[in-house]
Amino acid sequence: MAFENLSDKLQSAFKKLKGKGVLTEADINDAMREVKLALLEADVNFKVVKEFVNDVKEKCLGSEVLESLTPAQQIIKIVNQELVDLMGGTNSKLTYSPSGFTTIMMVGLQGTGKTTTCGKLANYLKQSGKKPMLCACDIYRPAAIDQLEVVGKSVNTPVFTKRDSREPAKIALEAKREAEKKGFDVLIVDTAGRLQIDEALMDELVDIKGTVKPHEILLVVDALTGQDAVNVAKGFNEKLGVDGIVMTKMDGDSRGGAALSAKKVTGKPIKFMGMGEKFDALEPFHPERMASRILG
Ligand code: GDP
Repeated sequence: MAFENLSDKLQSAFKKLKGKGVLTEADINDAMREVKLALLEADVNFKVVKEFVNDVKEKCLGSEVLESLTPAQQIIKIVNQELVDLMGGTNSKLTYSPSGFTTIMMVGLQGTGKTTTCGKLANYLKQSGKKPMLCACDIYRPAAIDQLEVVGKSVNTPVFTKRDSREPAKIALEAKREAEKKGFDVLIVDTAGRLQIDEALMDELVDIKGTVKPHEILLVVDALTGQDAVNVAKGFNEKLGVDGIVMTKMDGDSRGGAALSAKKVTGKPIKFMGMGEKFDALEPFHPERMASRILG
């Protein structure tokens, strides 16, 4: 699980402070140096680290921490709040259309877990009482359509396909009409992935976005790729505009740097995290819970 090492390192830095009683400014500086190293080792973006540590230090020195009878606790409280803010503050929920029919567009590079996440999301929505339908818009890889159909069967959700069409935006629009007509209330559009961001892919996604006007564009990124995931997120957001991030493979990521940097670097919140290969392994992302997990 993410943050294991970071959690150990931060806890050991604060343990030292706890043993000290009254703290000096030098003690705080030492602790902040350890916090900085721990965050860098966790692969958090270096600018994010710098800002984070400066903010925490300022808050520690500017508050009653030095005069407090429990200074270590106060510092932990400050770090906790800053970690929560760093990850986006409160839990960022999905936007549903007030009209009753919601379109969610899933985007991301190949191999990040996008198709699996479409299935997980359908499963999640069903559990929340929604009636989702899936739509396959990858016109380049027939195997991707097959994969979504398998996923759809596994989560008992119909999949709209149009194998002879070469126009993804039209496929998505037809799917939307069909879903509305048949009484579904959410359409999840799985789009094509690539190995890297390229102009043709972005043009295609912009076209789909303009045609179906999704209420939510979720970008799927792979936590295991660390800062690459964050850079990809930044690129997608600049070119397409996304509403939220799904951080997959958090179950296998012991560092956690991508999850800690994404909001600050892209301005967009992580809405869900993938915690495994199974279709029930999708969890809403709660910054408060994550911060508590990190600080133990
Ligand atoms: P796509 O190319 O982006 O559509 O990626 P896929 O949905 O085919 O997923 C690629 C691989 O990542 C598959 O083996 C998935 O089972 C795996 N995967 C997806 N999400 C997660 C996750 O949250 N945790 C783990 N451990 N594996 C995942």
